[in-house]
Amino acid sequence: MDETALRALVQRIIKEELDPDRIPIGVSNHHIHLTEADFNTLFPNQEMTVLKPLKQPKEFASKQTVDIVGPKGTIKHVRVLGPCRAHSQVEIARSEALNIGVPAPIRLSGHLDGAPSVKLVTPDGEVTVQGVIIAKRHIHMSNEDAKRFGVKLGDTVSVEVQSQDRRTIYNDVICRPREDFVLEMHIDTDEANAANVDGNTFGKIVKA
Ligand SMILES: [Zn+2]
Repeated sequence: MDETALRALVQRIIKEELDPDRIPIGVSNHHIHLTEADFNTLFPNQEMTVLKPLKQPKEFASKQTVDIVGPKGTIKHVRVLGPCRAHSQVEIARSEALNIGVPAPIRLSGHLDGAPSVKLVTPDGEVTVQGVIIAKRHIHMSNEDAKRFGVKLGDTVSVEVQSQDRRTIYNDVICRPREDFVLEMHIDTDEANAANVDGNTFGKIVKA
């Protein structure tokens, strides 16, 4: 590579790296949120312990896992995310919902009306949780990010994702600005695999 070509390449990389509109893509594996009561039933005499912090402030993956038992199958060792919430909620991918025979709807977190129930099991207890969903695509962003993008809470946008050999545009992506959120778009494992997305992929809003 001659010097001019090298310069052009470096300049392009720097420009992309510094682009504030570039949205990191976070792939959400199946996970569970629990109320304190459900946590105590499943893990009697245990504290929820931090395994690793997540990108959004105060959120963490805990050391605790549970099995999700549906009418047609079980998903084993599903991670509990902390801290505890006001409602227990199970988030899985569509392929998993089909495997275990649970007709989970595509919903934003917390929108559990009419969502089916499922049994959660640990060696020490079990609970039935009403609220199995397939998470609707969304972007966490600060209020400043929202201003820059010209969007507000609940707006729907399209995001183009440039992954290796499989450029994809996701429609129906919900904007979720909050003062303390860190810019990150969440999709599930089915969506990520279909678009060849890995932990180092970025997206761009193409239509607000
Ligand atoms: Zn999220």
